[in-house]
Order: sequence, then structure tokens, then C-alpha cells
Amino acid sequence: MKSREHILIIGAGLCGSLLALRLAQHDYKITLIEKRADLRKADISAGRSINLAFSDRGMKGIKLVGLEKSVQGLCIPMYGRMLHDQQGEMQLSKYSGREGEYINSISRSGLNALLLDAVEKHDNVEIHFNQSCTDVNLEKTSATFEDSENQAQRSFNADYIFGTDGAGSVVRKEMQNQKNFLFSHSQNFLTHGYKELSFPPSESGEYATEKGALHIWPRGENMLIALPNLDKSFTVTLFLAYEGGKYNFNNLNNPEIVEEYFKSIYPDAYKLMPELKTEFFENPTAPLGTVKCSPWTFKNALIMGDAAHAIVPFYGQGMNASFEDVFEFDKILVENNFDVSKSFKVFSETRKPDADAIADLALDNFHEMKSHTAQDIFLQKRKIELALEKEFPKQYSSKYSLVTFEEQISYKTAMDRGRGQDKAILGLLKNNKLHDKQSLKEQLELIRNVTQQILEGDVILEH
Ligand SMILES: Cc1cc2nc3c(=O)[nH]c(=O)nc-3n(C[C@H](O)[C@H](O)[C@H](O)COP(=O)(O)OP(=O)(O)OC[C@H]3O[C@@H](n4cnc5c(N)ncnc54)[C@H](O)[C@@H]3O)c2cc1C
Repeated sequence: MKSREHILIIGAGLCGSLLALRLAQHDYKITLIEKRADLRKADISAGRSINLAFSDRGMKGIKLVGLEKSVQGLCIPMYGRMLHDQQGEMQLSKYSGREGEYINSISRSGLNALLLDAVEKHDNVEIHFNQSCTDVNLEKTSATFEDSENQAQRSFNADYIFGTDGAGSVVRKEMQNQKNFLFSHSQNFLTHGYKELSFPPSESGEYATEKGALHIWPRGENMLIALPNLDKSFTVTLFLAYEGGKYNFNNLNNPEIVEEYFKSIYPDAYKLMPELKTEFFENPTAPLGTVKCSPWTFKNALIMGDAAHAIVPFYGQGMNASFEDVFEFDKILVENNFDVSKSFKVFSETRKPDADAIADLALDNFHEMKSHTAQDIFLQKRKIELALEKEFPKQYSSKYSLVTFEEQISYKTAMDRGRGQDKAILGLLKNNKLHDKQSLKEQLELIRNVTQQILEGDVILEH
């Protein structure tokens, strides 16, 4: 039987806002509290990724709350990776050989604002901004907040607490502080950080480069990427090591060396960045890391989204995974007759392998994007996979497609099958066993057989 218990959601970012909306639709009483100002009224984008790759798993969560039409209005389709070499040549590598499979560039603040507008329409929701959670009492299901304007302290009690307060979650830290609670936790930083820059629209007011692609400048250890925005600018992100190599974040410390770096390593991108030197020194450099922990629930609290599983951004799946969390939690809640306590436990147990899988896949993709995308063998593999997806749309999906477009299978299944296929194709290419004289059907059979052997081999090893 559906209840109307009181739920406190800490953090009104992407995950917290979608969750609040779904639980409000189920008639729970919701208090949603956010540390920062209301992003619909203040410009608070600095330091956060301005746009994001949004794809089918994220759309599942959006469809659940009935907002797909409004969200589509914010999307710019990206059909593939546009690879830029050091001579300025471009080559499009499509995301899928099937028609109609693409990802989207979406504005973080636009999407968050749309969700908050939808949340606010519900009478059973209260939203508070500028309230930073400073303490959580997990025994009493209460939390204390400090007002960022006048430092006043305020406490809230509820029947349940959700921590959707992002990678640095206060709720997760409180779980870590519990005695007699076997809470496993790891946080691993990359040696690379990121900095956001931009391409403004061209002089004629158009996009400065091809709009329908995610642009990548792979340079071995480091890379630049760019995603389009609705205002015809691009948000450009530099992923660079903090130290080591000729250029790094620590030694790019004056305008001359920044100019030298971009002119020599990213010459075509450099020409599109008139504000490079200003932006480079005004915009923050931020670290990238992976958080894994378990269980995600203690007493009447649950962590979700980045609070439970922050990942590096190289699969473009962090937000998508957080939205899929809401979808999965909702399914479990309904299946368990709206028993929130039971749903916390089931969700924590069943969702964890998928969160681990996408965390690992995102790290794999870091290496693939910055260097493999430019290597011959990976280009050959991509060519074969696109041809197979086109010719046999129902029988073959690359690892990328399994993760990004096959939202009906879990991240764990996508990872296992996708890794097996990758291993099979790369091994066959290295040993000259895949070649032009074979028909595509023969290639498909060969890849499937070897993949199957690899997967069965893994099964034997696991037992
Ligand atoms: C550079 C970069 C690029 C990315 N690109 C992509 C992409 O292309 N596609 C994709 O799917 N994902 C991407 N991600 C990941 C994505 O940003 C996150 O997975 C997503 O934002 C997670 O949503 P969340 O609501 O769990 O956390 P957050 O978005 O971090 O939201 C947490 C909210 O909690 C609030 N909060 C924090 N602490 C407190 C507190 N103490 N009290 C109250 N409120 C608090 C914060 O202010 C924030 O509003 C990227 C991430 C980065 C860093």
C-alpha cells in the first residue's frame, strides 16, 4: 500500500531533482535541500561541466517522469567522434552503424532547471536553496544545514534521507564515520585534471566547427574535447596530466607557454579560441576521480548518483547512470509495494555491480579516447564494427553501443560482453585472421565464436 512518508533529499543536482520529482509523483512528502543558490536565478556554472553527453539510459529516467519532449528541446544530436589530428585533418568515426543511434549534447544547468521547474509544480514538495548540509544524524534520520547567506543553522527530520549530494557527499562521509558498520570505501584520483575553455560562434554567428559531433583531439597522454551548445558556442575541455611530459597543468603557468602548447599540439582548435589565454587562467583546474563504496544504505538513509559512485567522465555516463539509478530505484520501490526500507537494501545490493562496471568502463575509455582512437588497429576494429552494425543491426552491437544505446541490458552485461568482443576482434586483427576476402557474415561468425570462447573461458576462470 502506498504511503506518504516524509523524505529528505540532500542535494538538488541532476540526480536529486529527478528523484524528488519521481517520489513527488508517488505522493511522498518531499523536502529537497541544496547547498548552492537556485541556478535558475544565479549564474553558478563556473567550475562544473557546462554541457554533458546525454544518452538512452538517461532518457529512461526522463521518460519515467514524462519530460522527454521538453528535454529533447535542449538536445543537440552528436552522431560520432570527430577526430582531429595534429595537422588539422578531421575524420568522423560514427557512434553506431545503425540508423538513429546517436548521443546528445545537453546543458547541465538547462536540464537541472527544467527538472526543478517540474518538481516545484508539486504541492507536496518544499525546496530550500543556499543550505549546506553540515551534519547528518543517521540514527535519528535528521540533518543540519547552514544558510550560506547568514550562517543560521537549521535542522530537518524525516522518515527517510536520500544523499544525492555528489562526489564529496556529506551523507557518505557520515556513513563512513559509523562504528560497527562495515562500510567499504575507496577514492582514486587520476593523474590528470580538466579545465573548461570555449569556441565562441564564428564571425557570421554560426558554429565554429561541425555541430553534430563530439570533437576529440587525441594526443597520446592528453586530449582536448569539444561539445556544441545551443547558443552556437562549444564547450571545450582539456584533459591534461598535472605533472610529467613536456607540458602539464603545473608548468602551463604563463600565457606564452599556454599559447605555445595549443599552437603546436592543437593548431586547428587554437585558431577557434580567441579568449584562450584569459579563459585558461580564469577557469579552474579540477581533479577527476572514482568513488566506490558499499553498502549504500545505513538505517533510514540511502546514497545515490555520484554520492554512491562518482566516475571519471570518459564514457559520458555519470549523469546517465544517476538517472538510471532513479529508474531502477523506482522499479524496486513499486515491486516492493512502496516499502522504502526494503527498497534501500535491494537497490544497494542489485545496483552496485552495474555502478562498478560503468566506473571501470569509464577508466578504459580514458585510454581509448586519448590514444587508441588515433591508432590504426583501433580504427580498423571500428570500421568492422560499424559495418557489422549496419549489415546485422539486430545481431551485432559494439561495446560502445551496448553501453550507450542498449539501455535494456545492465552495465555489467554490457561490460562483460563488450570486453569479450573487443578482445576477440583485436586478437583476430593482430593475427591477420580478419581480412577483406571474408564476407561480413563470415567475419560476424568468427567474431561471435571467438567472443563466446573468451566469455566461456572467463566463466571457467571465475568458478
Ligand atoms: C568534466 C565532467 C564531464 C562530465 N561529462 C558527463 C557527460 O558527458 N555525461 C554524463 O552522463 N555525465 C558526465 N559527467 C558526470 C556528471 O556530471 C555526474 O555524474 C552528475 O552530475 C551526477 O549527478 P548528481 O546529482 O549525483 O551529483 P551532482 O551533479 O554533483 O549534484 C550534487 C548536488 O548536491 C549539492 N550538494 C553538495 N554538497 C551538499 C551539501 N553539503 N548540502 C546540500 N547540497 C549539497 C551540490 O551543490 C549539487 O547541486 C561529467 C562530470 C565531469 C566532472
